[in-house]
Amino acid sequence: MKTDLSQKLFAAAKKVIPGGVNSPVRAFRNVDGDPFFVRRAKGSRIEDVDGNKMIDYVGTWGPAILGHAPTSVIEAVHAAAKEGVSFGIPNPYEVEMANKVVDWVPSVEKVRMVNSGTEATMSAIRLARGFTGRDKVVKFDGCYHGHVDSLLVAAGSGALTHGEPDSAGIPNAFAAETIILPYNDAGKLEELFAKMGDQIAAVIVEAYPANAGLILPQPGFMQLMRDITKKHGALFIMDEVMTGFRVAKGGVQELEGLMPDLTAMGKVIGGGLPVGAFGGRADVMDFLAPDGPVYQAGTLSGNPLAMAAGLAQLRELDRQSGYQRLEELGARLEAGVRGILQEKGLGYKFNRVGSMYCLFFTEQEIINLDSVMTCEKEPFKKYFYSMLEQGVYVAPSPYETGFISMAHSNDDIDDTLEAMNVALGKI
Ligand SMILES: *Cc1c(COP(=O)(O)O)cnc(C)c1O
Repeated sequence: MKTDLSQKLFAAAKKVIPGGVNSPVRAFRNVDGDPFFVRRAKGSRIEDVDGNKMIDYVGTWGPAILGHAPTSVIEAVHAAAKEGVSFGIPNPYEVEMANKVVDWVPSVEKVRMVNSGTEATMSAIRLARGFTGRDKVVKFDGCYHGHVDSLLVAAGSGALTHGEPDSAGIPNAFAAETIILPYNDAGKLEELFAKMGDQIAAVIVEAYPANAGLILPQPGFMQLMRDITKKHGALFIMDEVMTGFRVAKGGVQELEGLMPDLTAMGKVIGGGLPVGAFGGRADVMDFLAPDGPVYQAGTLSGNPLAMAAGLAQLRELDRQSGYQRLEELGARLEAGVRGILQEKGLGYKFNRVGSMYCLFFTEQEIINLDSVMTCEKEPFKKYFYSMLEQGVYVAPSPYETGFISMAHSNDDIDDTLEAMNVALGKI
């Protein structure tokens, strides 16, 4: 694979951008390599600056559910831009977007738009604290909620009652307000609430944890979160930034029949533009400024281009009965992968929900972060580079979820399976 231009750009980037990238995972550190630079992307393919074309399973980390550069989104952005790119005053798209979210997402009665998933979770946490008058927040090991100070927290050494900063620059005092529990551990959650339930503002969880592979909840675990928060006057926040509008119109809460108090959204909702949103119970959302005491704002929030792009993407998904098609494509990939694993006598685990999937390079049952961390890095690296050489781009880390889009064809999936057959034969 030719990489001359990418290498030149990366060398130049490293001089003026920390690590050469604007988000760390792009630096390919988990595969001990250097990133390629993308010239253009269309449908299921991306093309790098050296002219290499690849079938893409990263999908700009989730947003590209229709595939890259869908005509409907491009046209909507053009049309909106002609009328002005930002107003800083309410615009009609915002009302249409809010109605769409309220219509599609079961638990959302009111919604506010922001510019990223990080802003969505950050604001939901502040709102939960303001609404309950409590400070403690509970999150789960391995769940990623963006780079919010109080959510970039790791499990403390043995202590159940407070976490430790998971990044330099986060005061211990902030981290101490966050409690980290292992995912899928009902006993620990019950124990915690029994001990200090009246201090907990919220439990936040990735609807399906998809930032450490793709971990699925054990029966009853999510219902317990819903019930125990309610019982103790805490809020239940579902982070559907990844899963929202991806696994179903109404996200995981629709699939699971669960009603969180607040929901964080992002990625697919923006059609590839920088958008996030958080919404939920009207009585909670009314605590936000200007009606309520919890401050939250954004110069570019509800931006007309971003709203137009997101609305076009959601409309197009609906028009094409997208979720049904994505399930078919996902099932095709899953059947093929399971066949290859069996044929090669590999006991690797494979999880999938609709168009989201993860192949785990471990034989351990995947229930929480500890089990995900048993994935072997070296075989993954071999697999990753073999796939790349064969023209298939999967996420450059063994701990990422893969995404299929509406633009992937059955032939794309079959070609990918052929490449996997070769790549998994080499490890
Ligand atoms: C990506 C992601 C975020 C952060 O969103 P950004 O737009 O990157 O800030 C938060 N939560 C989940 C579950 C995510 O997958």
